[in-house]
Amino acid sequence: MLSYPFLSAPDFGDVLEVAPGILWLRMPLPMALDHINLYLLEDSDGWWIVDTGIALGETQQLWEQVFDRVLGSKPIKAVVSTHFHPDHTGMAGWLCERWRVPFYMSQAEYYVGLAFGRTTKEHYSWSTERNLVRSGLTADQVARARDKFGGFGPIITPMPTAFQRLEDGEFLTINGHRWQVIVGRGHSPEHACLYCGGLNVLLSGDQVIPRITSNISVPGSEPAGNPLKEWFRSLVHFLESLPPETLVLPAHNTPFYGLHERLRFLIEHHEDQLLALEEACLERARSAMELLPVLFKRELDEHTIGLALGECIAHLNYLYFRGQLARDEDEQGCYRYRSIDATLSRRLRQQRHDTPDQPPMQV
Ligand SMILES: [Zn+2]
Repeated sequence: MLSYPFLSAPDFGDVLEVAPGILWLRMPLPMALDHINLYLLEDSDGWWIVDTGIALGETQQLWEQVFDRVLGSKPIKAVVSTHFHPDHTGMAGWLCERWRVPFYMSQAEYYVGLAFGRTTKEHYSWSTERNLVRSGLTADQVARARDKFGGFGPIITPMPTAFQRLEDGEFLTINGHRWQVIVGRGHSPEHACLYCGGLNVLLSGDQVIPRITSNISVPGSEPAGNPLKEWFRSLVHFLESLPPETLVLPAHNTPFYGLHERLRFLIEHHEDQLLALEEACLERARSAMELLPVLFKRELDEHTIGLALGECIAHLNYLYFRGQLARDEDEQGCYRYRSIDATLSRRLRQQRHDTPDQPPMQV
């Protein structure tokens, strides 16, 4: 069972100390997932910010409120973003400019973030369209996607103009504590988490979240990508390198204990999804669009369908590259997936559930 040591979350723009010198701050998001958690780390001569909030709505005003009420006599001294997604980097450019401080990020995240922030309507191309057709969208749905596509540049503020690189295994020293950079892949290219053994704390970003599963999507820019393979490797890397009693400070939901349970749950969750897809493709060949209800039981709205389809293709690519699914292109150019044989997956799943020391986790 996961446990949640804090009974209530701070209001937007307020802070709560969750470990010595670590403040939990929440900012609003204009979507179903309505908040992001950011953290302030106190150093001897200033504050580090970890993740920045989205550059929409009242985030900037709330930051000013934090500067007035929380910092005391110390300035902001550095900004860290765990990964490039807009809720994590949206205000980074503004914060680094306002305080003239360095920006810390992994190399891949920085450059992907720069490129992502420059996409415009012109980036909708024949390859975008082909990906949609391959996924099983109808001609009408493809036309609607073309009309709606605006790129991300117009809704994202510029990233900081320079960065300081975070690399897996390196350390930052903050207030005399050593924070180790631990990189995860699959949700984004080179997601940096920070772990402090002295404080027993992991700043986990979107890599480990207690109540929602992080989106693992094949991006349109890399249709033959295999992010789920990278995700599995990362989950195992975290299991092997971090102690189970770590206090996890995630970017969404609330701080929790139960890191290993959660990591094992995530591995099992995706294994179950893979088996469900294999079984659905046993009786007849299906497209990615047709397979969405196999993975997602809830109604998908316009915003979430893109993420859901990306995640479905991540699972299909994983099975395809392992030789467990075949795919044929039909006359319309749509990929139809067929199972080669689901017995291996069934047997692996059975073995796992039969192993007494690793029961399936219920969270
Ligand atoms: Zn993210």
